Amino acid sequence: MPLIPSWVDSANAPDCDFPLNNLPYGVFSLAEEEPRCGVAIGDMILDMAAAEEDGLIVLTDEPLFALPFWNDLMEQGPAVWAALRARLTALLARGAPDREAVEPLLVPLAEARLHLPFVVSEYTDFYAGRHHATNVGTMFRGAENALPPNWLHMPIGYNGRASSVVVSGTPVRRPWGQLKSADHDMPAFLPSRRFDFELELGAVVGTPSDGPLATAGAEAHIFGFVLLNDWSARDIQAWEYQPLGPFQAKATATSLSPWIVPKAALEPFRADTPAREVPLLDHLRDDGPGLFDIDLQVTLAPEGQPATTITRTNYREMYFSAAQQLAHHSTAGCPMNAGDLLGSGTISGPGKPERGSLLELSWGGEEPLTLDTGETRSFLQDGDTLTLTGHAQGDGYRIGFGACSGQVLPALKDPYRP
Ligand code: MN
Repeated sequence: MPLIPSWVDSANAPDCDFPLNNLPYGVFSLAEEEPRCGVAIGDMILDMAAAEEDGLIVLTDEPLFALPFWNDLMEQGPAVWAALRARLTALLARGAPDREAVEPLLVPLAEARLHLPFVVSEYTDFYAGRHHATNVGTMFRGAENALPPNWLHMPIGYNGRASSVVVSGTPVRRPWGQLKSADHDMPAFLPSRRFDFELELGAVVGTPSDGPLATAGAEAHIFGFVLLNDWSARDIQAWEYQPLGPFQAKATATSLSPWIVPKAALEPFRADTPAREVPLLDHLRDDGPGLFDIDLQVTLAPEGQPATTITRTNYREMYFSAAQQLAHHSTAGCPMNAGDLLGSGTISGPGKPERGSLLELSWGGEEPLTLDTGETRSFLQDGDTLTLTGHAQGDGYRIGFGACSGQVLPALKDPYRP
């Protein structure tokens, strides 16, 4: 598919994240005003609440954009999502008859503050990247036992915390927790020394469900995607994770990029899941190409210093798709709601510079990275800013996500000592 030209000229630049082919959904505010739903187009945001009030967008009897969240639209399902996309395309395409009515409803992106674009009803994180699982398993359990016996048969996940999901730009405080070193009998309560990131893609569930879905049916429930950083305290995790999985190691924060990229915008970039080593059970069987060709990169900037690119990889490296994760999540009858967030699992490629966490990049701290500034890193230091970016490359345009960024703040003093 070629670029669809817009009368918003900045949207037609080949390196613009938000061409008319994208139309990602966000929530913004200006100065002292209340947050409102908006759609990014070039270097502008279309005020959706205003467009609805003016009668330029009428999809249902009830208003969909009165509240500063996209959940009401997400619940409507694929037919309404498609109708909205068609209407936005008609309003913003070059030569649009409604240009005069729409133009006053655009605000400059550079002047806007961005908020979480949806109410995160629940958050589940998966472990569905084979290179990541193999790397981490090798470090924690040895190469012979790297992949757990269930791993090739289902996307393993754990229930995370929706309450600590934050939008890009929100600083993240180094956590305290129980740490247990091999040469001590007792654990100690200390600030994490192995604080890390995980490069992931978050799938956002739109249409609710109440009962088991198969992969083929689950696909239609997914509304869109965001970049996701699953901040992880590796030392807390190593002590707490057996037998029930990560808990406080992942509870501090999860950062999201501020725009939900519609699944429809990514359709031209579909990619196959990898060849299966063991056949999947019927409900998880692949139903066409379930992944997307999305280039991803991570930069790390020490405080006041320029950023170094530390990872380049691609979402195609996953073993299980978001539809397979959603299907697996529903098998025991768990209802899924609009705003359910599914983390893909860390996206690592096969090569060393393609690893999606510092745990892997520094091989558990044994091989520290050297940054462009000359400093080295095994794990994140206070003041470091970690930024995820990603885009699908089209012919003369790209579908970008906007940055998912966060700075690490120093741990507070011991919360249990006066
Ligand atoms: Mn994760």
